[in-house]
Amino acid sequence: AATPSDAPTIFDKIINKEIPSIVVYEDDKVLAFRDIAPQAPVHVLIIPKIRDGLTGLSKAEGRHCEILGRLLYTAKLIAKQEGLDEGFRIVINDGPKGCQSVYHLHVHLLGGRQLNWPPG
Ligand code: 5GP
Repeated sequence: AATPSDAPTIFDKIINKEIPSIVVYEDDKVLAFRDIAPQAPVHVLIIPKIRDGLTGLSKAEGRHCEILGRLLYTAKLIAKQEGLDEGFRIVINDGPKGCQSVYHLHVHLLGGRQLNWPPG
């Protein structure tokens, strides 16, 4: 896992289309694209287009409540779009012990197979 940092991340390049990604949803505030190393048949990352200090969920402040809600609502829309009618999982890794590797807040949407709990 990477060290927590405020430095720009690879997700800025994805947002700016400087490196390619498979986008499954986009609006003015949110971008969602397929994870490059999928852990399930459906594995989508949902991110705010503007990080605004949200290197991770642990850095959230009151001003972030709207975008946090939007990220979760977008996850629901994409789950429907991807046909995950029998269920899915949302994950937010935070910090080194949470296995966070990219310090731009992102919601993982996982589905398309039976998910077990706890993930290990
Ligand atoms: P984290 O471990 O920080 O919760 O999740 C970061 C995720 O970003 C990982 O699942 C990793 O596979 C994904 N990822 C890292 N670099 C890229 C990239 O360049 N493109 C895409 N689509 N996903 C990436």
